[in-house]
Amino acid sequence: MSISQAIEKVETRYAHQPEFVQAVKEVALTIAPLYDAHPEYEKNKIFERLVEPDRIIAFRINWENDKGEVQVNRGWRVQFSNALGPYKGGVRFHPTVNQSVLKFLGFEQIFKNALTGLPIGGGKGGSDFDPKGKSDSEIRRFCYAFMRELHHYVSKDMDVPAGDIGVGGREVSYMFAMYKNLTHEYSGVLTGKGVGFGGSLMRTEATGYGAVYFLENMLKVQNESIEGKRVLVTGAGNVSLHAAEKVNMLGGIAITVSDSKGTLYDENGFDQEKIDWLKKQKDQSKPLADYVDKFGGEWFAGKKPWHIKGDIAIPSATQNEVDEDDAKMMVDNGIKYVVEGANMPLTAEAIDHIREHRVHYAPGKAANAGGVAVSALEMSQNSVRQYKSFEQIDTRLKNIMKDIHDSAASASDKYNQTDNGYIDYMAGSNIVGFKRVADALCAYGILN
Ligand code: NDP
Repeated sequence: MSISQAIEKVETRYAHQPEFVQAVKEVALTIAPLYDAHPEYEKNKIFERLVEPDRIIAFRINWENDKGEVQVNRGWRVQFSNALGPYKGGVRFHPTVNQSVLKFLGFEQIFKNALTGLPIGGGKGGSDFDPKGKSDSEIRRFCYAFMRELHHYVSKDMDVPAGDIGVGGREVSYMFAMYKNLTHEYSGVLTGKGVGFGGSLMRTEATGYGAVYFLENMLKVQNESIEGKRVLVTGAGNVSLHAAEKVNMLGGIAITVSDSKGTLYDENGFDQEKIDWLKKQKDQSKPLADYVDKFGGEWFAGKKPWHIKGDIAIPSATQNEVDEDDAKMMVDNGIKYVVEGANMPLTAEAIDHIREHRVHYAPGKAANAGGVAVSALEMSQNSVRQYKSFEQIDTRLKNIMKDIHDSAASASDKYNQTDNGYIDYMAGSNIVGFKRVADALCAYGILN
């Protein structure tokens, strides 16, 4: 079966899972040159195999709210591929979570994790639980109940979850505590743990910082630097605020952040004092709009930032947050680089538009791989029970992001996707990630 036939099959079979189909097509359409050069992939039906997860575990979560009322949520773990190592990928708590979203995230995760060069497979999990407006006790009870179900299917050598939207250090700690309680085992089963009890330094910062390190590599190829560049960031969570922080540290000017209520714009940029304030505000679930009273700037209720002029965009909120009209505004407003902090934040049409206008584009699976890379370093630190310094991890992260950049750029070149200096990072990273997994699967025969 050719790749185009495999896509058709996925489109028909999973018509009700649009995010998953979108992610599959994005990979499929860019790996054709690799497939042509490797007839063994078609013979072994690698693509057809990789679009089906190894397994999906679905479960019910019963928990009690503060009024003593029984609540029922749904939970899943998609164990997509362990060709290169234990299943690895975050857990998301958000009302929009369903199988399509988790399958798209798990599918992307396979190739992202392969790109890091570290021994980790791909998976993803989550629940349709909405953490917004819940008390700390409700969050704790939900996390305990979630892990009571999940613990049957995860372990340090089998499947190692982490955080994602709605799941940060607090939630990981509650889940880790329940795992430890049920198994009587103190192991590195979750990453993103607190630094005092098995977590790695820099895990919190790694995704946002890593995206900016990737950007630095892209800029260098074009003989440019981040200094003085105006950067539009979306989201105001873990990835966004650390991306904005690193932009500021390197002399760039992060001028926006956003959330589901609107966009905050500060033409003077977010310095460390402002970023610390934003982190605290979001930690306490308080409105971003309060910023204007304290520091000035502008609040655009219900709006995204793309009407604002800038040089670089780092969309870091959620999937499909940038549609074709947004992409047109980006191009019209001078954006020259788009670096995906979030997973699949651009629709297929938005990607086409910016690429047609030769906007340098780094897909999430390459640009936001720093988080999972430091998670893999957390796993290895847990195994040897020795911990590295912030500086040591930061150096590893920089090197990993450079390696991802360079291997994607050289694959783009090797497979004739670079056009007059315009590097196709999307094709390059899909090719590198896919090849590593495909070669392992071919070596295994027909298992997995
Ligand atoms: P957080 O929960 O910390 O933050 C998410 C932010 O995005 C919040 O500010 C949230 O606003 C905003 N947001 C969510 N949905 C929407 C929406 N529909 N419209 C506008 N804003 C929205 O999540 P993370 O920072 O961890 O994750 C962000 C993205 O990065 C996700 O795509 C995730 O998969 C990806 N990612 C995360 C990694 C990590 O290490 N955490 C690693 C690699 C990728 P509000 O608070 O109002 O909901």
